[in-house]
Amino acid sequence: MDSSAECNLCGNCVKACPNNSIRISPRVPTKEIWSIKKPKIEHASLAAVIMGIVFVQNITMLKIWEDILRMIASLTGTTNYTVNFTVAFVISMILPILLLLGTAKLASMLKGDKEKIKENFVRFGYAIIPLDLAGHLAHNLFHILTEGKAIWFNSAALFGTSLSGDLSLASVSSVQWIQYAIIIFGLVGSIYTVFRIGKKGSFKQLAPYYALMLFLTVANLYLFSLPMVHRV
Ligand code: SF4
Repeated sequence: MDSSAECNLCGNCVKACPNNSIRISPRVPTKEIWSIKKPKIEHASLAAVIMGIVFVQNITMLKIWEDILRMIASLTGTTNYTVNFTVAFVISMILPILLLLGTAKLASMLKGDKEKIKENFVRFGYAIIPLDLAGHLAHNLFHILTEGKAIWFNSAALFGTSLSGDLSLASVSSVQWIQYAIIIFGLVGSIYTVFRIGKKGSFKQLAPYYALMLFLTVANLYLFSLPMVHRV
């Protein structure tokens, strides 16, 4: 086994092996995504799509979401939320794929190797994964830290005790600073992954990918800087 792409660390294989030959080997963070022998287009595409999903998750909690819905409604001719949300969702998933494709094309042109666009798309798509993870963690941190007390309020309700009050465990500004820090960690992971996937190539060769990671980072930071409202 040389990949844990499908593994959820349940530990069953470790427990069930009669010879104790299976073990968990800690690795340098991101190593698994830059040492893949056979990168797959579906994984690279999914990495890009997930970035779009992070953006949708955030945008639906911003004030601007209602304006976006109204704009889409004027195009679709319906106010059906499911239809208009689906349109926004599909657009958000396609955009990062186009960005990655454009970046792969630019990098191929800079290298004078126009044949390798698909190969570059597949190899470097994996570099978005650390930023994907950071975006999801930062988004869900907002829920955990600003709605966290709901856990014990609801637990108390199970035993007939009614508790109410502010649900947050931390102030919004504290949450924002933690979100920024997580996104910066994601950027470092993605930049390092580009560097390793690019076999420690020159800055000029890898510049388009660095620029893509930076762009995705700035977009994430901007969205996290805007005031978010809970969906319910
Ligand atoms: S059985 Fe082993 S390889 Fe399979 S999911 Fe569990 S820990 Fe991962």
